[in-house]
Amino acid sequence: MNMRLIAAVFGLIAIPPRFVQAAAPGLARLEAMTARFAPTPIEADAAGLSAGDRKAVSLLIEASKIVDSLFLRQIREDNSSILRKLDRDFSPLGKARRRYFWINKGPWSTLDDHAAFLPGVPARKPLGAAFYPETMAKAEFETWISGLSAAEQTQAKGFFSVIRKSKGSLEIVPYSRAYAAELRRLAILLREAAGATDNASLKRFLALRADAFLSDDYYASDVAWMELDAPIEPTIGPYETYQDELFGYKAAFESYVTLRDDAETSRLKAFSSHLQTIEDHLPIPREYRNPKIAAAAPIRVVNVVFSAGDGNRGVQTAAFNLPNDERVLAEKGAKRVMLKNVQEAKFRSVLTPIAARVLAPESRGDLDFGAFFGHILAHELCHGLGPHQIQVAGRSTTPRAELKDIYGAIEEAKADALGLFALQYLMSENGRLQIPGLESGPAAERKLYATFLASSFRTLRFGIHEAHGRHGVSAELSAGQRGVHRENRRHLRDRL
Ligand code: ZN
Repeated sequence: MNMRLIAAVFGLIAIPPRFVQAAAPGLARLEAMTARFAPTPIEADAAGLSAGDRKAVSLLIEASKIVDSLFLRQIREDNSSILRKLDRDFSPLGKARRRYFWINKGPWSTLDDHAAFLPGVPARKPLGAAFYPETMAKAEFETWISGLSAAEQTQAKGFFSVIRKSKGSLEIVPYSRAYAAELRRLAILLREAAGATDNASLKRFLALRADAFLSDDYYASDVAWMELDAPIEPTIGPYETYQDELFGYKAAFESYVTLRDDAETSRLKAFSSHLQTIEDHLPIPREYRNPKIAAAAPIRVVNVVFSAGDGNRGVQTAAFNLPNDERVLAEKGAKRVMLKNVQEAKFRSVLTPIAARVLAPESRGDLDFGAFFGHILAHELCHGLGPHQIQVAGRSTTPRAELKDIYGAIEEAKADALGLFALQYLMSENGRLQIPGLESGPAAERKLYATFLASSFRTLRFGIHEAHGRHGVSAELSAGQRGVHRENRRHLRDRL
């Protein structure tokens, strides 16, 4: 049986005008705001899954729906009662509000600097969302925390607690207590899914993540997530801290239920196995070539079946880099997860119309998703190539230290150009290297360059004051560079 799972995804089509809101927008304006998102079907092929894994997928989807309601509470404690009210409003305005509420996961519009689009809520999303008391000022938190013990301070600033006010004073409430009912239910579902799957690494991750929901200690399950090697690749838990605009401390719940893309995984493996050969042939003086390149961080190519919470609001995430726990990063590095079917949806809805405007008519037929996605993977891998340790006037240093504030931009340009170089090299050597799944020859080369050119115009939409726009890079991250790690992750999530 070829079971296909279809979900709706919303991709951003155009840079939006700012909506200046005095009162809550009426029907026409709300419809215009909603029309900035393009509903797009996405598909993932579940034909290869075992019966146990299929059961695990449906349990994980059930768990993801709880993640949705948990995330709603993190944005605003009474979000679910706002939603219930909208559910009972069958007027055209009520329906439009409900639809836009689900896109934004709350009453504030993510594309309009979180301006309210419903009446009866603050005009803008509070900076601290619902992680802190709504009335708490930044200074109040800072004064309070300075009187705490070192251990309490760590917990107050930690990912997995909220700050509440009780009898006039602030207190720390761990997630396991603040969201006790939801997390207990999540733990039950994850343990059931662990019992259903026949994959040992997945069993281990799900069981440990269930424990973490109840103990607030996510370390062991983050390590197990790094070690996942399974047809189902779930990411579920509290992760990114962007929703906490006040301090950036608190992690929002999200879930991605995804299936590994085996064809892309083998293409990636083949590509990775030739990285040293590519380094050895870089068109730079021999002394700058690295005789032994460092092991690349793991990359997974997956297709999304269901996403929820912070992972499914506003502009859709096309790739992410996790975990965020510094201990896991130091020991294991980070894993990059590329959501291929979301990238494909964005290719259709965003890049194809751009290509129609910027490519010469005879080149438009060369626009190709395989070439687009192949270059994204090559770009990622090529961050690890090229000079990393250099000598300047007898000093041992790094390009980052020398280039300073322009390093990010130059590094992105390098990965882009090197991605093209690497693919061109592999294509021209394909007869000798025998790379499975790699097209070569003049037609494949035309696709690569035409698609890259169109994609450069796409990136320009983000403006020339940010690293990717300056060089036209796609979905991306710098390998092993913690300083820009976070900033780049935001590009990955929001900018593609
Ligand atoms: Zn990059």
